[in-house]
Amino acid sequence: MPTRATHRPSPSNPPKAQRMVSNAATSDSPATKPEASGMLKASACLRRAHVHTQAISPVKGGLNTLIGALLSTIDNVMMPEFTFSTLVIPSSGPSDNDIIYGSGEKTNPLANVFSFDLPSDMEDPEASESFRHFPNTYRSSHPVFSFTGLGLDIALINHPADDPYAPIRVLRKMNGWVLLAGAKPSHNFSIHLAEKITGRKQFVRWALTSEGIREIPNYPGCPDGFHKLNYYLQEELHSVQVGGETWQAINIDTLINVACALLKDDPFALLCNEINCPRCNLVRESIKAQYARQWQSEH
Ligand SMILES: [Zn+2]
Repeated sequence: MPTRATHRPSPSNPPKAQRMVSNAATSDSPATKPEASGMLKASACLRRAHVHTQAISPVKGGLNTLIGALLSTIDNVMMPEFTFSTLVIPSSGPSDNDIIYGSGEKTNPLANVFSFDLPSDMEDPEASESFRHFPNTYRSSHPVFSFTGLGLDIALINHPADDPYAPIRVLRKMNGWVLLAGAKPSHNFSIHLAEKITGRKQFVRWALTSEGIREIPNYPGCPDGFHKLNYYLQEELHSVQVGGETWQAINIDTLINVACALLKDDPFALLCNEINCPRCNLVRESIKAQYARQWQSEH
């Protein structure tokens, strides 16, 4: 039986969500740079951190020191702990889903069953894996898009398989911030929520759980065009250079509002420029089909 770290804030021990950051900074890397401190003071309180450790200078004490510095100043942190190794391919399913049904004969037996102890297989998961082992952290139960948090049980306790964006929705209401510490805009999972809200085509996948194979609807599309959103965020996007890496922070509600406005104005926005990208091309086809239906209904 997998163990599960728990941390449940109570009235007598409320989450210290409103503290401003005084030094150090985010999830992974060398955090105690003065410029980073300034950036984080400009932002505030709750945050979801994407930390990439590659190409960041070594820090005395290692990653745990950085995570400790982060938690000593921010208090309420959530990091992605995604587990794509749970995915399996069925023999049949909905069309236009960027999947070759029946092709999992060799790979399905190698899939992992999701558990709260299953390590993340994200690109560069070192920071989130270190964070997961910190005391009193709590991991949500989504078989693919789980998050680990400290003091954010309220955002993590209900993370059903059919709603990958549930924790982001709660953090948005809590006036949370997202921090990309050396991570790319394509790693900003929150933007997928804007796609969902504006009706962009979603995909379906399937994952192994202790209760059997679960359908994962609302599976997001390709994020490789998310960098195009930065142009519209302008001064709302706080950026600093830290150890040769760019760290960026933005309020989640602001991020979602700007992304939704852009997608409503241009449904093709934020798709990538790779001409053969299957998921982006399926999104384009779905938008054009929707245009055709609207035109037919009007004539
Ligand atoms: Zn794409």
